[in-house]
Amino acid sequence: MERLRADPTTRALVLHRGRLAVVGQEAPRAALLPAAPLLSDTGRGDGLWMFLGESDGGAHLAFVLPDGDDVAPPAGADAWLGLRDVTQGQAGALAAGDPDVVLTHGLSVEAVALAGWHGTHRQCGRCGGPTAVVQAGWARHCPADARETYPRTDPAVIMAVVDDADRLLLGHAATWPEGRFSTLAGFVEAGEALEDTVRREVAEESGVLVGTAPGDVVYRGSQAWPFPASLMLGFRARAVTTAVHTDDEEVTDARWFTRAELAAATASGEVGLPGRHSIARALIEEWYGEELPGS
Ligand SMILES: [Zn+2]
Repeated sequence: MERLRADPTTRALVLHRGRLAVVGQEAPRAALLPAAPLLSDTGRGDGLWMFLGESDGGAHLAFVLPDGDDVAPPAGADAWLGLRDVTQGQAGALAAGDPDVVLTHGLSVEAVALAGWHGTHRQCGRCGGPTAVVQAGWARHCPADARETYPRTDPAVIMAVVDDADRLLLGHAATWPEGRFSTLAGFVEAGEALEDTVRREVAEESGVLVGTAPGDVVYRGSQAWPFPASLMLGFRARAVTTAVHTDDEEVTDARWFTRAELAAATASGEVGLPGRHSIARALIEEWYGEELPGS
């Protein structure tokens, strides 16, 4: 890491309290800044350095400034922004876009996920003692019991539920703005297989039963979702019942849409869909067959 930090071709993302140093106003992107001057520019020698990867142009690192008071963005950056507010690249299940945007966004997701994990794993989970960063930011070591811990990811499922009339089930969560509808989703519980999570979450949130035959739950793609540590695993699921009873706590409305109904509802603004770069949108548009209106 010391060698890479000093190498003039090495670039680094800078993070503070979960936000990224960004450049650009219209389409802000994480700033990839020369790594060597960052220590003196920021005056924060006690920050955390992490190795993100290498490409033809050189190594990519992340530099996480200690929490604490507000600090100005480093020289070469314009502002601090959360990951949800930077220009999205598409990855995983989603079609690729501009390679530079995809690379920068991929590094941003990686850095935010890793920084978030360090922020909540300073103590050993076994003995409670302090842990030290090792393996270029990819593990923490407890000297008391010679144990290493690694960044963890919490799997969550998200599913396009389709009935035998080829209608799509979308739900409205209690916390969302009025008219917003999306695919159902939920966390995988301990000891649970993904297909069982799909069936349980759909039943809990909508009352609809998903089939148990081979092919009734099919994996479609994934999206890293480091808020703080999720991986969204996308599925197509076949419903074997259609009666809807929402739980009225997490999900307050759930409806079946034909393609014509969803097209009309999104065109009129009655229904708002999740953002264009989300796996939820990709699952909905895969069922629909093409892009739907709305950003
Ligand atoms: Zn320990």
